[in-house]
Amino acid sequence: MATTVGCGDAPVLREHGQREVFCGLTGIIWLHRKIQDAFFLVVGSRTCAHLIQSAAGVMIFAEPRFATAIMEERDLAGLADMNDELDRVVDRLLERRPDIRMLFLVGSCPSEVIKLDLARAASRLSQRHMPQVRVLNYSGSGIETTFTQGEDACLAALVPCLPAAGPLDPPSLLVVGALADVVEDQLRRIFEALGITRVDFLPPRCSSALPPVGPDTRILLAQPFLGETGRALEKRGARRLDAPFPLGAEGTTLWLKAAADSFDVPTARFESVIRPGRDRAERALAPFKARLSGRRIFFFPDSQLEIPLARFLARELGMQPIEVGTPYLHRQHLAQELALLPASVRLSEGQHVENQLDRCRAATPDLVVCGLGLANPLEADGMTTKWSIELLFTPIQGFEQAGDLAELFDRPLARRTRLVA
Ligand code: SF4
Repeated sequence: MATTVGCGDAPVLREHGQREVFCGLTGIIWLHRKIQDAFFLVVGSRTCAHLIQSAAGVMIFAEPRFATAIMEERDLAGLADMNDELDRVVDRLLERRPDIRMLFLVGSCPSEVIKLDLARAASRLSQRHMPQVRVLNYSGSGIETTFTQGEDACLAALVPCLPAAGPLDPPSLLVVGALADVVEDQLRRIFEALGITRVDFLPPRCSSALPPVGPDTRILLAQPFLGETGRALEKRGARRLDAPFPLGAEGTTLWLKAAADSFDVPTARFESVIRPGRDRAERALAPFKARLSGRRIFFFPDSQLEIPLARFLARELGMQPIEVGTPYLHRQHLAQELALLPASVRLSEGQHVENQLDRCRAATPDLVVCGLGLANPLEADGMTTKWSIELLFTPIQGFEQAGDLAELFDRPLARRTRLVA
């Protein structure tokens, strides 16, 4: 693996201006699959309903676990009592869907504009429907947010509901951030083999399995966009383990090592447990490295995964990140990632989309990672793009997924080559 000086102290270009990002409602698409007895009720407009439906694809055969309580014009004009209407909608929903155990009321731009107090509504509805259904709320609004913040807000809303760990409970590891079930199962097997016996995941697959938290809980973030959730857990006494994120062979090794060190796993045991997975990941990456090495890549700020991805692509596949934009730069959570990034990378935080488009065009990268809204115009300009949102919908963490992660970046370049040939 290449050695680098790192980007820990590198200057950051801070930009303010027009942004091209999805809103936090988007998180519902992967969260509703994860917590299998939860339901997400967006309190929003037809635009919100449309966004969710088109992002999720319309599920004709399955009973979806999300819906939108649409606020009509008279609601927005304050002509109707929204709280009464909301109570009626929730009653009807819970009567029809007795399988729901946790209901999230998800705020949107319209509900925030009319200052509908969803926290109060959630507490009122919880009192009415507990113990069968717990009602929580969070904001998915697109005002000043980016799409992965929806998950952060959702998980932060769950933190006060987590039971307190007892004084006699053994130290536990809490992996925080929604992961595909297949990834979660693989990681659980590795932790077990390492001898770390008490491991929980947040969000859990089932709302009745909320993990306990307390001063003996060590948290390992699986996603880089969980600033608010991390803070809420630390307030409950948990301690965050500093680590890069589990992307690629190196990232996964260092992430697991942070947990192993915290639980005093001997180095020899750690090595013997992780070696087979790491070797498989390195073998899976080799053909992609041959194709991607030296290719130049430009990141627009969108998912907040940009910095860990750039680190993986630079160090494990030999790609050259030119600019790595991120909506927010959480220096503490990303400290180890920044230290591993090549020093030549230009870091930018926030967005002034016109300026960034100018820099991108001037840099003529081989591949641009960006949101859906920018991809088509950039493709029309002859650039090759990768939609950043795909990185949230695809299992990419851990050793077994390293090859799939590399392929996500190889595919658009291969397609472009076929089109040109
Ligand atoms: S929450 Fe705001 S940004 Fe998101 S779909 Fe609704 S109106 Fe649009």
